Amino acid sequence: MNRDDFPILSRTVYDRPLVYLDNAATTQKPRCVVEAMMEEYYNVNANVHRGVHFLSQKATDLHEQARETVRDFINARTSSEIIFTRGTTESINLLAYSFGEAFMQEGDEVLISEMEHHSNIVPWQILSERKGLKIKVIPITDDGQIDISTYRSILEQSTKIRLVCVTHVSNVLGTVNPIKEIISMAHEQGIPVLVDGAQSTPHFKVDVQELDCDFFAFSGHKIYGPTGVGVLYGKEKYLEQMPPYQGGGEMIQKVSFEKTTFNQLPYKFEAGTPDYVGTHALATAINYVCNIGMDQILKHEQELTAYALQQLRTIDNMQIYGHPENHPGDAVISFNIKGIHHLDLGTLLDRLGIAVRTGHHCAEPLIHRLGIEGTVRASFALYNTKEEVDALVQGIQRVVKMF
Ligand code: PMP
Repeated sequence: MNRDDFPILSRTVYDRPLVYLDNAATTQKPRCVVEAMMEEYYNVNANVHRGVHFLSQKATDLHEQARETVRDFINARTSSEIIFTRGTTESINLLAYSFGEAFMQEGDEVLISEMEHHSNIVPWQILSERKGLKIKVIPITDDGQIDISTYRSILEQSTKIRLVCVTHVSNVLGTVNPIKEIISMAHEQGIPVLVDGAQSTPHFKVDVQELDCDFFAFSGHKIYGPTGVGVLYGKEKYLEQMPPYQGGGEMIQKVSFEKTTFNQLPYKFEAGTPDYVGTHALATAINYVCNIGMDQILKHEQELTAYALQQLRTIDNMQIYGHPENHPGDAVISFNIKGIHHLDLGTLLDRLGIAVRTGHHCAEPLIHRLGIEGTVRASFALYNTKEEVDALVQGIQRVVKMF
């Protein structure tokens, strides 16, 4: 892995080398991604889809090539199933609105898990308020796994569940959910499934056809791409029946004051000028990780996570959440040190140049389930090293001594 591709990694903070371990929040950008954006603004920029002129066609080509790159990356069947959004959050809000309009009625239920990020909870609550739905929750076990047998019985006991919404990987615990099994269990009852892929796409290969998920959401900025661009994948058979989420330009076929007809997929869901520079930069990021190889990235991050767990466990009073021996997790480790508030620990680590995240990580119900107020979270990316893990461990030991 070439750290030199990421200019920011060579900067210092407080005169110390930066140790960036907040990758679950957002990743740093390789030079090629930033340059792709600069190059497009300097040499190509024009609005897409509606211009006959050279630049508009060139920008449109880049934008539509990006859609094809995304399709190939997650192995969707056709690029009309790839909807560009602002990120995972917008993808799920789009789905909640449009799926809700098309397929849900008062008294219906949405099934989510106890380890969801707020962006896979709140849109369903808003929809529930609007439509009079009920939200049901799949509990997790004490070691941070989805309780599969309870999930099975919830599925079997209710005939009102219209959608199951589960994260692929927990952004707090690093738990990699058995998503294929979760999907096939829902399908046995005829229920479609949304997978929140915000924390899986950066770390390992995802194949939406192989998983057979009905919807899949992810964010560009967590996979070395720019902020403000994301993806909602959906099976055509559902998307075709769902009404638009927003109205405006691009998403229409014909407009009169009496009646408007909507554009075909995926444009029906993409009102207004899209972030065409962002989509091109996202495709550049995807090409970047694919050139390294998702398997290589996974292997590197698994080794790093195993090493970090081993080293962190040597620290007195260390409490690590999730990551049981028999279920290797993803490159996210949440922890606390008994007697030290997570915010103090994070702040003091920052003074040593180590960037970690503290708090509830936008998953308050999960944090409450763990019986705590928050954690310190270290999360790794392809460019992190064992030396940085050592810096984290030494940093924590230094803070512990101060207390
Ligand atoms: N789901 C999960 C599991 C996440 O980790 C995040 C980001 N922390 C989101 C959803 C929301 O992503 P975004 O803020 O990019 O929309």
